[in-house]
Amino acid sequence: MNLNLLIDGSLVPGALSLDVINPATGQVLATCTRADKRQLEQAVAAAKRAFPGWAATDISARKSSLTRIADAMEARAGEFARLLTQEQGKPLAEAQFEIGGGVAILRIFAEMDTPLVVRREDDRQRVLEQRLPLGVVATITPWNFPLMLLVGKVAPALMAGNTVVSKPAPTTPLTALLFAEIVAEHVPAGVFNVIVDDNDLGAELTSHPDVAKVSFTGSTATGKRVMESVSSTLKRLTLELGGNDAAIVLDDVDVKEVAPHVFGTAMLNAGQVCLATKRVYVPAALYDEMCDELARLAKEAIVDDGLKQGTQIGPVQNKQQYEKMKFYLDDAKESGTVIAGGEPLDRPGYFIAPTIVRDIPDTAPLVREEQFGPVLPILSYETLDDAILRANDSEFGLGGTIWTADPERGLEAALKIESGTVWVNRHGLEFDLPLRGAKQSGIGVEYGVEGYIEYTQGKIINMAL
Ligand code: NAD
Repeated sequence: MNLNLLIDGSLVPGALSLDVINPATGQVLATCTRADKRQLEQAVAAAKRAFPGWAATDISARKSSLTRIADAMEARAGEFARLLTQEQGKPLAEAQFEIGGGVAILRIFAEMDTPLVVRREDDRQRVLEQRLPLGVVATITPWNFPLMLLVGKVAPALMAGNTVVSKPAPTTPLTALLFAEIVAEHVPAGVFNVIVDDNDLGAELTSHPDVAKVSFTGSTATGKRVMESVSSTLKRLTLELGGNDAAIVLDDVDVKEVAPHVFGTAMLNAGQVCLATKRVYVPAALYDEMCDELARLAKEAIVDDGLKQGTQIGPVQNKQQYEKMKFYLDDAKESGTVIAGGEPLDRPGYFIAPTIVRDIPDTAPLVREEQFGPVLPILSYETLDDAILRANDSEFGLGGTIWTADPERGLEAALKIESGTVWVNRHGLEFDLPLRGAKQSGIGVEYGVEGYIEYTQGKIINMAL
Protein backbone atom coordinates (compact mmCIF):
# COMPACT_ATOMS: atom_id res chain seq x y z
CA MET A 1 0.00 0.00 0.00
CA ASN A 2 1.65 3.17 -1.15
CA LEU A 3 -0.56 6.04 -0.13
CA ASN A 4 0.71 9.60 0.11
CA LEU A 5 -0.29 12.97 1.46
CA LEU A 6 -1.80 15.42 -1.03
CA ILE A 7 -0.14 18.82 -0.86
CA ASP A 8 -0.36 21.44 -3.60
CA GLY A 9 -1.49 18.95 -6.23
CA SER A 10 1.31 16.46 -5.53
CA LEU A 11 1.03 13.10 -3.84
CA VAL A 12 4.00 13.26 -1.50
CA PRO A 13 5.38 11.12 1.32
CA GLY A 14 5.10 12.61 4.78
CA ALA A 15 8.13 13.56 6.83
CA LEU A 16 6.96 11.16 9.54
CA SER A 17 5.01 7.92 9.77
CA LEU A 18 2.54 6.10 12.00
CA ASP A 19 1.28 2.55 12.25
CA VAL A 20 -2.34 1.91 11.35
CA ILE A 21 -3.78 -1.08 13.22
CA ASN A 22 -6.38 -3.45 11.82
CA PRO A 23 -8.85 -3.62 14.73
CA ALA A 24 -9.93 -7.13 13.73
CA THR A 25 -6.43 -8.51 14.33
CA GLY A 26 -4.68 -5.97 16.55
CA GLN A 27 -1.82 -6.17 14.02
CA VAL A 28 -0.25 -3.41 11.94
CA LEU A 29 -2.20 -3.02 8.70
CA ALA A 30 0.06 -0.37 7.19
CA THR A 31 2.77 2.05 8.08
CA CYS A 32 1.17 5.26 6.96
CA THR A 33 2.77 8.46 5.87
CA ARG A 34 2.35 11.36 8.32
CA ALA A 35 2.90 15.10 8.03
CA ASP A 36 5.07 17.32 10.17
CA LYS A 37 4.30 20.95 10.99
CA ARG A 38 6.17 22.18 7.92
CA GLN A 39 3.97 20.08 5.64
CA LEU A 40 0.85 21.39 7.35
CA GLU A 41 2.11 24.91 6.59
CA GLN A 42 2.72 23.92 2.96
CA ALA A 43 -0.80 22.52 2.67
CA VAL A 44 -2.44 25.64 4.09
CA ALA A 45 -0.26 27.90 1.91
CA ALA A 46 -1.16 25.88 -1.20
CA ALA A 47 -4.87 26.08 -0.37
CA LYS A 48 -4.56 29.82 0.17
CA ARG A 49 -2.81 30.31 -3.20
CA ALA A 50 -5.35 28.16 -5.02
CA PHE A 51 -8.36 29.89 -3.51
CA PRO A 52 -8.82 32.93 -5.80
CA GLY A 53 -8.64 30.80 -8.96
CA TRP A 54 -11.01 28.12 -7.66
CA ALA A 55 -13.46 30.68 -6.27
CA ALA A 56 -13.58 32.32 -9.69
CA THR A 57 -14.37 29.13 -11.61
CA ASP A 58 -17.80 28.80 -13.08
CA ILE A 59 -20.15 26.74 -10.92
CA SER A 60 -20.58 24.29 -13.82
CA ALA A 61 -16.85 23.51 -13.68
CA ARG A 62 -17.08 22.75 -9.98
CA LYS A 63 -20.15 20.61 -10.57
CA SER A 64 -18.24 18.71 -13.23
CA SER A 65 -15.31 18.13 -10.82
CA LEU A 66 -17.59 16.76 -8.09
CA THR A 67 -19.41 14.52 -10.55
CA ARG A 68 -16.14 13.14 -11.93
CA ILE A 69 -14.89 12.47 -8.38
CA ALA A 70 -18.15 10.62 -7.62
CA ASP A 71 -17.79 8.56 -10.80
CA ALA A 72 -14.17 7.70 -9.98
CA MET A 73 -15.06 6.69 -6.43
CA GLU A 74 -17.87 4.53 -7.68
CA ALA A 75 -15.51 2.83 -10.15
CA ARG A 76 -13.15 1.96 -7.28
CA ALA A 77 -15.88 1.23 -4.70
CA GLY A 78 -14.68 -2.33 -4.09
CA GLU A 79 -11.14 -1.22 -3.30
CA PHE A 80 -12.42 1.56 -1.03
CA ALA A 81 -14.76 -0.77 0.86
CA ARG A 82 -12.09 -3.40 1.56
CA LEU A 83 -9.64 -0.80 2.78
CA LEU A 84 -12.31 0.79 4.94
CA THR A 85 -13.18 -2.52 6.60
CA GLN A 86 -9.53 -3.23 7.23
CA GLU A 87 -8.75 0.11 8.83
CA GLN A 88 -12.08 0.74 10.56
CA GLY A 89 -13.40 -2.75 11.38
CA LYS A 90 -16.96 -2.48 10.07
CA PRO A 91 -18.49 -5.40 8.12
CA LEU A 92 -17.86 -5.20 4.39
CA ALA A 93 -21.55 -4.59 3.61
CA GLU A 94 -21.51 -1.55 5.91
CA ALA A 95 -18.28 -0.36 4.29
CA GLN A 96 -19.91 -0.62 0.86
CA PHE A 97 -22.84 1.36 2.22
CA GLU A 98 -20.48 4.06 3.50
CA ILE A 99 -18.75 4.36 0.11
CA GLY A 100 -22.19 4.63 -1.51
CA GLY A 101 -22.98 7.38 0.99
CA GLY A 102 -19.85 9.30 -0.04
CA VAL A 103 -20.79 9.04 -3.70
CA ALA A 104 -24.37 10.16 -2.96
CA ILE A 105 -23.10 13.18 -0.99
CA LEU A 106 -20.92 14.28 -3.91
CA ARG A 107 -23.85 14.01 -6.31
CA ILE A 108 -26.24 15.88 -4.00
CA PHE A 109 -23.87 18.82 -3.45
CA ALA A 110 -22.96 18.88 -7.17
CA GLU A 111 -26.54 20.06 -7.75
CA MET A 112 -26.33 22.96 -5.31
CA ASP A 113 -25.87 26.59 -6.17
CA THR A 114 -26.34 29.93 -4.45
CA PRO A 115 -27.26 32.41 -7.20
CA LEU A 116 -27.77 36.10 -6.50
CA VAL A 117 -31.11 36.53 -4.75
CA VAL A 118 -33.24 39.66 -5.12
CA ARG A 119 -34.32 40.50 -1.58
CA ARG A 120 -36.22 43.70 -2.46
CA GLU A 121 -36.84 45.66 -5.64
CA ASP A 122 -38.92 48.79 -6.39
CA ASP A 123 -38.54 52.04 -8.39
CA ARG A 124 -35.99 53.49 -6.00
CA GLN A 125 -34.04 50.57 -4.57
CA ARG A 126 -32.72 47.12 -5.40
CA VAL A 127 -31.37 44.79 -2.69
CA LEU A 128 -29.46 41.68 -3.67
CA GLU A 129 -27.96 38.92 -1.56
CA GLN A 130 -24.77 37.30 -2.75
CA ARG A 131 -23.10 34.21 -1.31
CA LEU A 132 -19.33 34.07 -1.49
CA PRO A 133 -16.93 31.26 -0.63
CA LEU A 134 -15.02 31.72 2.62
CA GLY A 135 -11.43 30.80 1.70
CA VAL A 136 -9.46 27.89 3.14
CA VAL A 137 -11.65 25.37 4.97
CA ALA A 138 -10.05 22.94 7.42
CA THR A 139 -11.90 19.67 7.92
CA ILE A 140 -11.24 17.42 10.90
CA THR A 141 -12.97 14.06 11.08
CA PRO A 142 -13.26 11.07 13.43
CA TRP A 143 -12.72 7.34 12.87
CA ASN A 144 -16.24 5.93 12.89
CA PHE A 145 -17.20 6.89 9.30
CA PRO A 146 -13.81 8.07 8.07
CA LEU A 147 -14.76 8.41 4.43
CA MET A 148 -18.38 9.53 4.51
CA LEU A 149 -17.84 12.23 7.12
CA LEU A 150 -14.85 13.55 5.17
CA VAL A 151 -16.77 13.70 1.90
CA GLY A 152 -19.67 15.34 3.77
CA LYS A 153 -17.43 18.33 4.41
CA VAL A 154 -15.23 18.36 1.31
CA ALA A 155 -18.10 18.19 -1.21
CA PRO A 156 -20.00 21.30 -0.05
CA ALA A 157 -16.78 23.19 0.68
CA LEU A 158 -15.38 22.67 -2.82
CA MET A 159 -18.73 23.17 -4.55
CA ALA A 160 -19.14 26.54 -2.84
CA GLY A 161 -15.72 27.62 -4.17
CA ASN A 162 -13.55 27.10 -1.09
CA THR A 163 -10.25 25.28 -0.99
CA VAL A 164 -9.67 22.59 1.62
CA VAL A 165 -7.09 21.11 3.96
CA SER A 166 -8.35 17.84 5.47
CA LYS A 167 -7.05 16.00 8.48
CA PRO A 168 -8.52 12.53 9.06
CA ALA A 169 -8.36 10.69 12.40
CA PRO A 170 -4.94 9.09 12.99
CA THR A 171 -6.40 5.59 13.41
CA THR A 172 -8.23 5.69 10.04
CA PRO A 173 -6.21 7.77 7.54
CA LEU A 174 -6.01 5.29 4.65
CA THR A 175 -9.36 5.75 2.90
CA ALA A 176 -8.90 9.52 3.18
CA LEU A 177 -5.56 9.20 1.34
CA LEU A 178 -7.13 7.01 -1.33
CA PHE A 179 -9.83 9.66 -1.72
CA ALA A 180 -7.09 12.30 -2.06
CA GLU A 181 -5.51 10.28 -4.88
CA ILE A 182 -8.80 10.49 -6.79
CA VAL A 183 -9.59 14.12 -6.08
CA ALA A 184 -6.09 15.16 -7.16
CA GLU A 185 -6.97 14.16 -10.72
CA HIS A 186 -10.08 16.32 -10.85
CA VAL A 187 -9.23 19.66 -9.23
CA PRO A 188 -6.36 22.13 -9.77
CA ALA A 189 -3.26 21.97 -7.56
CA GLY A 190 -3.83 23.22 -4.02
CA VAL A 191 -7.62 23.11 -4.13
CA PHE A 192 -7.69 19.95 -2.01
CA ASN A 193 -4.98 18.89 0.41
CA VAL A 194 -4.85 16.00 2.88
CA ILE A 195 -2.42 15.66 5.73
CA VAL A 196 -2.22 12.87 8.31
CA ASP A 197 -1.22 13.48 11.92
CA ASP A 198 -0.87 11.54 15.13
CA ASN A 199 -3.30 13.71 17.09
CA ASP A 200 -0.67 16.44 17.10
CA LEU A 201 -1.63 18.83 14.27
CA GLY A 202 -5.31 19.51 14.98
CA ALA A 203 -4.70 22.59 17.09
CA GLU A 204 -2.17 23.98 14.57
CA LEU A 205 -4.78 23.72 11.87
CA THR A 206 -7.72 25.15 13.81
CA SER A 207 -5.73 28.14 15.06
CA HIS A 208 -4.03 28.85 11.71
CA PRO A 209 -4.60 32.49 10.68
CA ASP A 210 -5.00 31.54 7.00
CA VAL A 211 -7.84 29.11 7.69
CA ALA A 212 -11.24 30.78 7.30
CA LYS A 213 -13.49 28.00 8.55
CA VAL A 214 -13.18 24.83 10.57
CA SER A 215 -15.63 22.01 10.03
CA PHE A 216 -15.15 19.52 12.84
CA THR A 217 -16.81 16.21 13.64
CA GLY A 218 -15.73 14.39 16.76
CA SER A 219 -16.24 14.22 20.48
CA THR A 220 -17.80 17.02 22.49
CA ALA A 221 -14.62 17.33 24.59
CA THR A 222 -12.40 17.95 21.54
CA GLY A 223 -15.09 20.17 19.99
CA LYS A 224 -14.80 22.50 22.98
CA ARG A 225 -11.05 22.74 22.46
CA VAL A 226 -11.60 23.52 18.78
CA MET A 227 -14.06 26.27 19.66
CA GLU A 228 -11.52 27.87 21.97
CA SER A 229 -8.84 27.56 19.35
CA VAL A 230 -10.79 29.30 16.56
CA SER A 231 -11.84 32.19 18.78
CA SER A 232 -8.64 34.21 18.37
CA THR A 233 -9.37 34.72 14.66
CA LEU A 234 -13.18 34.37 14.82
CA LYS A 235 -13.19 31.68 12.16
CA ARG A 236 -16.45 30.25 10.95
CA LEU A 237 -17.10 27.00 12.78
CA THR A 238 -19.28 23.93 12.40
CA LEU A 239 -19.22 21.37 15.20
CA GLU A 240 -20.90 17.98 14.85
CA LEU A 241 -20.30 16.36 18.21
CA GLY A 242 -21.34 13.52 20.45
CA GLY A 243 -24.80 12.24 21.22
CA ASN A 244 -26.63 10.07 23.72
CA ASP A 245 -29.73 9.36 21.69
CA ALA A 246 -32.70 7.80 23.41
CA ALA A 247 -35.10 5.37 21.76
CA ILE A 248 -38.54 5.52 23.35
CA VAL A 249 -40.72 2.50 22.76
CA LEU A 250 -44.45 3.21 23.16
CA ASP A 251 -46.87 0.79 24.81
CA ASP A 252 -48.67 -0.06 21.55
CA VAL A 253 -45.81 -1.86 19.77
CA ASP A 254 -45.35 -5.46 18.82
CA VAL A 255 -42.12 -6.15 20.70
CA LYS A 256 -40.92 -8.87 18.34
CA GLU A 257 -41.32 -6.54 15.38
CA VAL A 258 -39.69 -3.49 16.96
CA ALA A 259 -36.81 -5.14 18.84
CA PRO A 260 -34.70 -5.85 15.71
CA HIS A 261 -34.99 -2.17 14.71
CA VAL A 262 -33.91 -1.00 18.15
CA PHE A 263 -31.06 -3.48 18.14
CA GLY A 264 -29.97 -2.49 14.61
CA THR A 265 -29.91 1.23 15.36
CA ALA A 266 -27.84 0.59 18.49
CA MET A 267 -25.35 -1.92 17.08
CA LEU A 268 -24.66 -0.57 13.57
CA ASN A 269 -20.91 -0.03 13.18
CA ALA A 270 -20.48 -1.75 16.59
CA GLY A 271 -22.43 1.11 18.17
CA GLN A 272 -19.92 3.69 16.97
CA VAL A 273 -22.41 6.00 15.32
CA CYS A 274 -23.05 9.54 16.54
CA LEU A 275 -26.78 8.98 15.93
CA ALA A 276 -26.90 5.43 17.31
CA THR A 277 -29.50 4.52 19.89
CA LYS A 278 -27.51 4.73 23.11
CA ARG A 279 -30.28 4.12 25.71
CA VAL A 280 -33.74 2.59 25.37
CA TYR A 281 -36.87 3.48 27.38
CA VAL A 282 -39.53 0.76 27.46
CA PRO A 283 -42.95 0.77 29.21
CA ALA A 284 -42.93 -1.35 32.38
CA ALA A 285 -45.57 -3.69 30.93
CA LEU A 286 -43.33 -4.57 27.96
CA TYR A 287 -39.98 -4.34 29.74
CA ASP A 288 -39.25 -8.03 30.37
CA GLU A 289 -40.31 -9.05 26.88
CA MET A 290 -38.23 -6.33 25.21
CA CYS A 291 -35.17 -7.08 27.34
CA ASP A 292 -35.41 -10.79 26.51
CA GLU A 293 -35.82 -10.10 22.82
CA LEU A 294 -32.86 -7.70 22.68
CA ALA A 295 -30.72 -10.17 24.64
CA ARG A 296 -31.63 -12.93 22.19
CA LEU A 297 -30.62 -10.73 19.23
CA ALA A 298 -27.34 -9.85 20.95
CA LYS A 299 -26.50 -13.50 21.61
CA GLU A 300 -27.36 -14.51 18.04
CA ALA A 301 -25.38 -11.69 16.36
CA ILE A 302 -22.34 -12.86 14.42
CA VAL A 303 -19.34 -10.92 15.71
CA ASP A 304 -16.22 -11.38 13.61
CA ASP A 305 -13.70 -9.83 11.24
CA GLY A 306 -15.64 -7.49 8.93
CA LEU A 307 -14.02 -9.08 5.89
CA LYS A 308 -15.64 -12.45 6.71
CA GLN A 309 -18.90 -13.06 4.94
CA GLY A 310 -21.85 -13.11 7.32
CA THR A 311 -20.29 -10.86 9.96
CA GLN A 312 -22.91 -8.58 11.49
CA ILE A 313 -20.81 -6.75 14.06
CA GLY A 314 -17.10 -6.04 13.77
CA PRO A 315 -14.58 -4.98 16.41
CA VAL A 316 -14.55 -1.52 17.96
CA GLN A 317 -12.18 0.70 16.07
CA ASN A 318 -9.20 1.24 18.34
CA LYS A 319 -7.49 0.29 21.57
CA GLN A 320 -8.64 3.40 23.38
CA GLN A 321 -12.28 2.68 22.51
CA TYR A 322 -11.81 -0.96 23.53
CA GLU A 323 -10.54 0.12 26.96
CA LYS A 324 -13.46 2.54 27.25
CA MET A 325 -15.90 -0.31 26.55
CA LYS A 326 -14.29 -2.37 29.31
CA PHE A 327 -15.01 0.51 31.69
CA TYR A 328 -18.68 0.55 30.64
CA LEU A 329 -18.90 -3.25 30.98
CA ASP A 330 -17.62 -2.96 34.55
CA ASP A 331 -20.12 -0.18 35.20
CA ALA A 332 -22.91 -2.33 33.73
CA LYS A 333 -22.05 -5.25 36.02
CA GLU A 334 -21.82 -3.03 39.06
CA SER A 335 -24.94 -0.94 38.61
CA GLY A 336 -27.22 -3.10 36.43
CA THR A 337 -27.87 -6.67 35.27
CA VAL A 338 -26.08 -7.89 32.17
CA ILE A 339 -28.37 -10.24 30.22
CA ALA A 340 -26.24 -10.71 27.08
CA GLY A 341 -22.56 -10.25 26.36
CA GLY A 342 -20.67 -8.42 29.09
CA GLU A 343 -17.13 -9.35 28.06
CA PRO A 344 -14.52 -8.68 25.41
CA LEU A 345 -14.14 -11.68 23.10
CA ASP A 346 -11.24 -13.96 23.89
CA ARG A 347 -9.35 -13.42 20.64
CA PRO A 348 -6.91 -10.91 19.15
CA GLY A 349 -8.34 -7.60 18.01
CA TYR A 350 -10.73 -5.23 19.72
CA PHE A 351 -13.89 -7.35 19.90
CA ILE A 352 -16.61 -6.65 22.46
CA ALA A 353 -19.59 -9.00 22.73
CA PRO A 354 -22.80 -7.09 22.01
CA THR A 355 -24.11 -6.37 25.48
CA ILE A 356 -27.61 -5.72 26.83
CA VAL A 357 -27.99 -4.29 30.31
CA ARG A 358 -31.24 -4.06 32.29
CA ASP A 359 -32.28 -2.69 35.70
CA ILE A 360 -29.70 0.07 35.55
CA PRO A 361 -30.34 3.49 37.14
CA ASP A 362 -30.52 6.72 35.12
CA THR A 363 -27.49 7.96 37.06
CA ALA A 364 -25.10 5.23 35.83
CA PRO A 365 -22.28 6.43 33.52
CA LEU A 366 -23.49 3.96 30.85
CA VAL A 367 -26.81 5.84 30.76
CA ARG A 368 -25.58 9.41 31.21
CA GLU A 369 -22.47 9.34 29.01
CA GLU A 370 -21.91 8.55 25.36
CA GLN A 371 -20.64 4.95 25.38
CA PHE A 372 -20.07 4.83 21.58
CA GLY A 373 -19.91 1.04 21.44
CA PRO A 374 -21.97 -2.17 21.51
CA VAL A 375 -23.18 -1.90 25.13
CA LEU A 376 -26.83 -0.92 25.43
CA PRO A 377 -28.77 0.01 28.62
CA ILE A 378 -32.54 -0.68 28.72
CA LEU A 379 -34.64 1.39 31.13
CA SER A 380 -38.21 0.94 32.26
CA TYR A 381 -40.82 3.74 32.43
CA GLU A 382 -44.30 4.16 33.89
CA THR A 383 -45.67 7.15 31.91
CA LEU A 384 -44.67 8.50 28.52
CA ASP A 385 -44.19 11.99 29.97
CA ASP A 386 -41.72 10.52 32.42
CA ALA A 387 -39.82 8.77 29.60
CA ILE A 388 -39.63 12.00 27.59
CA LEU A 389 -38.42 13.93 30.62
CA ARG A 390 -35.67 11.39 31.23
CA ALA A 391 -34.73 11.23 27.55
CA ASN A 392 -34.36 15.03 27.53
CA ASP A 393 -32.39 15.10 30.76
CA SER A 394 -29.05 15.06 28.96
CA GLU A 395 -26.33 17.49 28.02
CA PHE A 396 -26.55 16.01 24.50
CA GLY A 397 -29.27 16.58 21.90
CA LEU A 398 -28.25 14.97 18.63
CA GLY A 399 -31.04 12.54 17.67
CA GLY A 400 -33.64 10.15 19.05
CA THR A 401 -36.23 7.63 17.96
CA ILE A 402 -39.85 6.86 18.80
CA TRP A 403 -41.21 3.37 18.08
CA THR A 404 -44.99 3.05 17.98
CA ALA A 405 -47.87 1.39 16.16
CA ASP A 406 -49.46 4.83 15.73
CA PRO A 407 -47.41 7.46 13.84
CA GLU A 408 -49.63 10.26 15.20
CA ARG A 409 -48.79 9.29 18.78
CA GLY A 410 -45.20 9.11 17.61
CA LEU A 411 -45.39 12.66 16.30
CA GLU A 412 -46.89 13.87 19.57
CA ALA A 413 -43.92 12.45 21.46
CA ALA A 414 -41.39 13.58 18.82
CA LEU A 415 -42.53 17.19 19.18
CA LYS A 416 -41.35 17.11 22.81
CA ILE A 417 -37.86 15.70 22.19
CA GLU A 418 -34.97 18.17 22.57
CA SER A 419 -32.69 17.21 19.70
CA GLY A 420 -31.64 18.21 16.20
CA THR A 421 -33.32 15.16 14.64
CA VAL A 422 -35.95 12.73 15.83
CA TRP A 423 -37.21 9.74 13.88
CA VAL A 424 -40.55 7.98 14.18
CA ASN A 425 -40.45 4.30 13.19
CA ARG A 426 -37.35 4.81 11.05
CA HIS A 427 -33.73 5.82 11.48
CA GLY A 428 -30.83 7.04 9.37
CA LEU A 429 -29.03 10.01 7.93
CA GLU A 430 -30.41 11.59 4.73
CA PHE A 431 -27.91 13.91 3.11
CA ASP A 432 -30.39 16.33 1.60
CA LEU A 433 -31.76 17.12 5.07
CA PRO A 434 -30.01 19.34 7.61
CA LEU A 435 -28.19 17.58 10.44
CA ARG A 436 -27.71 19.66 13.55
CA GLY A 437 -27.01 18.99 17.18
CA ALA A 438 -28.98 20.62 19.98
CA LYS A 439 -27.29 21.49 23.29
CA GLN A 440 -23.72 20.13 23.51
CA SER A 441 -24.12 17.94 20.43
CA GLY A 442 -22.98 20.69 18.14
CA ILE A 443 -23.13 24.12 16.62
CA GLY A 444 -24.18 24.80 13.06
CA VAL A 445 -25.55 22.51 10.37
CA GLU A 446 -24.24 19.90 7.98
CA TYR A 447 -25.91 18.45 4.87
CA GLY A 448 -28.91 19.81 3.02
CA VAL A 449 -29.07 23.32 1.60
CA GLU A 450 -28.61 24.70 5.11
CA GLY A 451 -25.34 22.79 5.43
CA TYR A 452 -24.16 24.03 2.05
CA ILE A 453 -24.82 27.65 2.99
CA GLU A 454 -22.51 27.28 6.00
CA TYR A 455 -19.61 27.12 3.54
CA THR A 456 -20.45 30.60 2.25
CA GLN A 457 -20.45 34.19 3.48
CA GLY A 458 -23.63 36.12 2.82
CA LYS A 459 -23.38 39.69 1.54
CA ILE A 460 -26.15 42.24 1.00
CA ILE A 461 -25.77 44.64 -1.94
CA ASN A 462 -28.14 47.56 -1.37
CA MET A 463 -28.51 49.91 -4.38
CA ALA A 464 -30.33 53.14 -4.99
CA LEU A 465 -31.83 53.24 -8.50
P1 NAD B 1 -12.13 12.95 18.76
O1 NAD B 1 -12.74 14.20 19.20
O2 NAD B 1 -11.21 12.23 19.69
O3 NAD B 1 -11.31 13.13 17.41
C1 NAD B 1 -11.87 13.69 16.27
C2 NAD B 1 -10.80 14.35 15.44
O4 NAD B 1 -10.25 15.46 16.16
C3 NAD B 1 -9.62 13.46 15.09
O5 NAD B 1 -9.25 13.72 13.74
C4 NAD B 1 -8.52 13.96 16.03
O6 NAD B 1 -7.22 13.72 15.55
C5 NAD B 1 -8.83 15.43 16.08
N1 NAD B 1 -8.27 16.15 17.23
C6 NAD B 1 -7.81 15.66 18.40
N2 NAD B 1 -7.40 16.68 19.20
C7 NAD B 1 -7.63 17.83 18.52
C8 NAD B 1 -7.44 19.21 18.82
N3 NAD B 1 -6.95 19.60 19.99
N4 NAD B 1 -7.80 20.10 17.90
C9 NAD B 1 -8.32 19.73 16.72
N5 NAD B 1 -8.52 18.45 16.38
C10 NAD B 1 -8.18 17.50 17.27
O7 NAD B 1 -13.37 12.04 18.35
P2 NAD B 1 -13.35 10.53 17.98
O8 NAD B 1 -13.19 9.75 19.24
O9 NAD B 1 -12.41 10.32 16.85
O10 NAD B 1 -14.85 10.35 17.39
C11 NAD B 1 -15.92 9.92 18.12
C12 NAD B 1 -16.83 11.09 18.46
O11 NAD B 1 -17.30 11.73 17.28
C13 NAD B 1 -18.08 10.67 19.19
O12 NAD B 1 -18.31 11.53 20.26
C14 NAD B 1 -19.17 10.80 18.15
O13 NAD B 1 -20.47 10.99 18.66
C15 NAD B 1 -18.70 11.98 17.38
N6 NAD B 1 -19.35 12.03 16.07
C16 NAD B 1 -20.28 12.99 15.83
C17 NAD B 1 -20.94 13.05 14.60
C18 NAD B 1 -21.97 14.08 14.32
O14 NAD B 1 -22.31 14.26 13.16
N7 NAD B 1 -22.48 14.77 15.31
C19 NAD B 1 -20.62 12.11 13.62
C20 NAD B 1 -19.67 11.14 13.90
C21 NAD B 1 -19.03 11.11 15.13
